[in-house]
Amino acid sequence: MKEACGVFGVYAPGFDVPHLVFDGLFALQHRGQESAGMAVSDGETVTVVKDMGLVTSVFDARTLNSLQGHLALGHVRYSTTGPSTWQNAQPVFRSAGNAGFALGHNGNLTNVAALAEAAGMLPGIVTSDSELVGELISRAFPSVDHVGEGEDPDLEQALLEVLPLLEGAFAFGLADATHLVGVRDPNGFRPLCLGRLEPQPGAPEGGWVIASETPALDIVGAHFVREIEPGEMVVIDADGPRSFRPFPEERIDPKLCIFEFVYFARPDSRLFGREVHAARHRMGERLALDAPAEADLVIGVPDSGVPAAAGFAARTGIPFGQGLVKNRYIGRTFIAPTHQARVEGVRRKLNPLRESVEGRRLVVVDDSIVRGTTTRQIVKMLREAGATEVHLRVSSPPFRWPCYYGIATPDRGELIAANLSVEEIAEHLDADSVGYLSLEGLIAAIGAPGEGFCSACLTGEYPTPVPVHFGELAGAQP
Ligand code: SF4
Repeated sequence: MKEACGVFGVYAPGFDVPHLVFDGLFALQHRGQESAGMAVSDGETVTVVKDMGLVTSVFDARTLNSLQGHLALGHVRYSTTGPSTWQNAQPVFRSAGNAGFALGHNGNLTNVAALAEAAGMLPGIVTSDSELVGELISRAFPSVDHVGEGEDPDLEQALLEVLPLLEGAFAFGLADATHLVGVRDPNGFRPLCLGRLEPQPGAPEGGWVIASETPALDIVGAHFVREIEPGEMVVIDADGPRSFRPFPEERIDPKLCIFEFVYFARPDSRLFGREVHAARHRMGERLALDAPAEADLVIGVPDSGVPAAAGFAARTGIPFGQGLVKNRYIGRTFIAPTHQARVEGVRRKLNPLRESVEGRRLVVVDDSIVRGTTTRQIVKMLREAGATEVHLRVSSPPFRWPCYYGIATPDRGELIAANLSVEEIAEHLDADSVGYLSLEGLIAAIGAPGEGFCSACLTGEYPTPVPVHFGELAGAQP
């Protein structure tokens, strides 16, 4: 599975805003490593800098020092629709009204074809769903008919017109010359939070921050104010934040992606008031109850399998140790388009600690098994390193359905749990046994009672209609 994207914006007169956005994007790098960009406004002009690559390679000190402004929007991208090209790097910029605006998107729209058709756009005119939204918003500027007397049509009004048309997963950050905007879709599939920068010398008003995850607030010294709610639009300008509800009430149905807790979010993120690391530890504890195993050592597959492995060990009393070393420099997303390349990619990424695993019966905890390619290689490596038994334990339920909400997953035909029973999976992976955490156990481990989750890739119950043929836009990859 590949991450979606990360969004980070700052409205803070008197602060060094471009450097804050750089730091915020750096904290969100795990959400997308293909491209990075930021749009900076000095109150009149919006300047966009974006390129392919990591945040540290797109922005150097010279670039950051050349950018001036009191508000900025940044984005890191992993492409889930549209090819990985410079054109599709974000923020997307569009001219509209008296100036222009920039858009950064985390998620995937599910009604792209209908929107494009309704707007009279031929396939290929826009190359990603984010481009399409940018186009729709820019077209909405002149047609706004509910603008107050003497006012210019603006981003806020255009958004109120366009947002209700959109379906699927979208956490947007937007910026024009004078406003920073954060939006979450009515299901809140992807996280987005609001933070506050306290006043400081030279910046008596303090500032406001929007971010995909809370560690990006921490890194810039902002404190967490609240999550932007599903179906909410927050507009920040010189008067501070204002909240809007652009969607009909019947569409509001909170469904945060449960895999944010299992895998995507940083361990130090807080979602629904719960720290992700502690939730992963509890997933391991619960996994030990749902799928116990007899073994000499519990190890985790780095990185996100490790806290769950510690939880499994704590509950069972089996010693916890490190059995796999990860190459820190390979990046979280090793882009491996072919089966053979994926196999080699595992070897580049992970290596066993022979003295830890030799002669031992192992419980190996991972966060998920998607295709099984990586897991099969891990089992092989551990056996070659001398493990006498390998019992795989997975801190989420079987992954049986593709995601249409911003996570790149394979077709059903390639999802191992969609095609094989648990026993057949164990046989295919050459593991002595395989055990999964139950959905009930996963939700209990997260420990956010009353909160709603999307678990469609585990249950096939999609919270919104999903397209039968997904991929009408050029280059779309479901
Ligand atoms: S389908 Fe799965 S990966 Fe996609 S949003 Fe829902 S829970 Fe997350």
